Amino acid sequence: MLTDFSIQNTQNRIAMAMKQRQPPLCGEVTLVAASKTQIPATIEAAIASGLRCFGENRVQEAMEKWPALKKAHPDVRLHLIGPLQTNKVPQAVALFDVIESVDRPGLAEALRKEEQKTGVQREYFIQVNTGEEPQKSGVFPRECAALHQHCLSLGLKVTGLMCIPPADAPYAPHFALMHTLSEKLGLSKRSMGMSNDFEAAIRLGATHVRLGSALFGERDSSGA
Ligand SMILES: *Cc1c(COP(=O)(O)O)cnc(C)c1O
Repeated sequence: MLTDFSIQNTQNRIAMAMKQRQPPLCGEVTLVAASKTQIPATIEAAIASGLRCFGENRVQEAMEKWPALKKAHPDVRLHLIGPLQTNKVPQAVALFDVIESVDRPGLAEALRKEEQKTGVQREYFIQVNTGEEPQKSGVFPRECAALHQHCLSLGLKVTGLMCIPPADAPYAPHFALMHTLSEKLGLSKRSMGMSNDFEAAIRLGATHVRLGSALFGERDSSGA
């Protein structure tokens, strides 16, 4: 359950992990509250407690909840943290400030086309499948530079990388790989770290952590 304690406790843990970083790692860490499956009243409570950045993983669910919330709270930023189908690009560009799941050239092209059609410019992260897991979205690390170059040539504003490391393996090598890749491409933002590993992610250079259960409590498995 979302409580002032769960928010405060999470923010304290983030602050502690930030202090444990070694130079040159420094700078802000943005808490992206993963609000999938949470009802608008819960999200309102989170906003009232001071959270200003949220992540949803399904465009359809976000379309049902967020137009009203964004209207009431124009300073809240919304990230898409789940896969994006090309046919949902118009809704996604209209609703999300940051799309963290750019993972293929065709999607980048559709996003740019929509931006040009609507005059709206968004911010994008490339999703990297650091574990090269067949069932997972994201480009493989070796394809990342080519996709980044393609996005640049289109004129998409790519500022970072995002990853979801394998659930059953040590996560530190994946966070380290994200750091290497992002430095190589000159990207300053790294969205990595969820409720079970966010402190390690911050120590290894996360600039964005995406937290659901640490803030809101366990979800039922249907929403995982
Ligand atoms: C749900 C979700 C999270 C948050 O997961 P928790 O383990 O509950 O913190 C982070 N990233 C993505 C992409 C998600 O779908």
